[in-house]
Amino acid sequence: MTGTLYLCATPIGNLEDMTFRAIRTLREVNIIAAEDTRRTRKLLAHFDIHTPLIRFDEHCKISVGEKILARLAAGESVAVVSDAGLPAISDPGAELVRSAIDAGLTVCPIPGANAALSALICSGLDTARFMFVGFPPKSKKNRRELLQRLATVDATLIFYEAPHRLKNFLSEAAEVFGARQATLARELTKIHEEFLRGTLTELSKKISEPLGEFVIVVEGASSAEVVAPTENISEAVERLTASGLDKKSAMREVARQFNVSRREIYNALLKEEIQ
Ligand code: SAM
Repeated sequence: MTGTLYLCATPIGNLEDMTFRAIRTLREVNIIAAEDTRRTRKLLAHFDIHTPLIRFDEHCKISVGEKILARLAAGESVAVVSDAGLPAISDPGAELVRSAIDAGLTVCPIPGANAALSALICSGLDTARFMFVGFPPKSKKNRRELLQRLATVDATLIFYEAPHRLKNFLSEAAEVFGARQATLARELTKIHEEFLRGTLTELSKKISEPLGEFVIVVEGASSAEVVAPTENISEAVERLTASGLDKKSAMREVARQFNVSRREIYNALLKEEIQ
């Protein structure tokens, strides 16, 4: 008999969000693999849990991951926890799950708090279709490229971002996404929980010195921003100008969406006019 790998949620602020099942599981497993053992030790003390802890973070996830797999194969059960929320969501755990599945081991979720979904459900934006993006790249160039690729996704976008990068991120997102609505979910489940709503530009102006943790939820692309699969370049430019964009901006947007140069857009329009 092999053991089970539990992916166990922990609170993202409010300790009352710890579930009964999470407490029982953490008491019953042979070992808890934690991102930050000091932090998890405090949580365990609060809930009177005395299971042995091992460190399992970004730096040691490969070597410790192998040890965890060996213990599971030998019949022990292991719970993975991160500092907050769900393991494997912008936190260590995903590779271990993949390896456990490949090794034919059982993986089991212990659901609970998660910042992305908590922000989404209170954002007031579309919850029917959404994309979790997580942390944007730190390099400006890569970040901009990602935002540009996301600009035509017609689903609500969910980002995590460090507080000191928030203002910058909001103004960059405003440049790429335009006047879309967004919600900043701040300090979820904590005393100073707050939701700020408005356009990306309004929010970037509102934020001075952001305190605490944030999730950014951004409205998805409107139908006017999404390229129809059958549409050609001049049809796309026409649709965007009809939706209120000036011709130059429409051409720039279509060049981005079709991944061609502005010169090629210009030539395509010229050819159409001649025919
Ligand atoms: N695994 C976690 C989860 O399931 O939500 C996410 C961990 S990720 C390393 C940390 C990021 O999540 C923060 O930078 C912030 O964007 C977001 N976050 C975590 N807790 C939060 C909270 N209480 N309020 C707002 N955002 C939070």
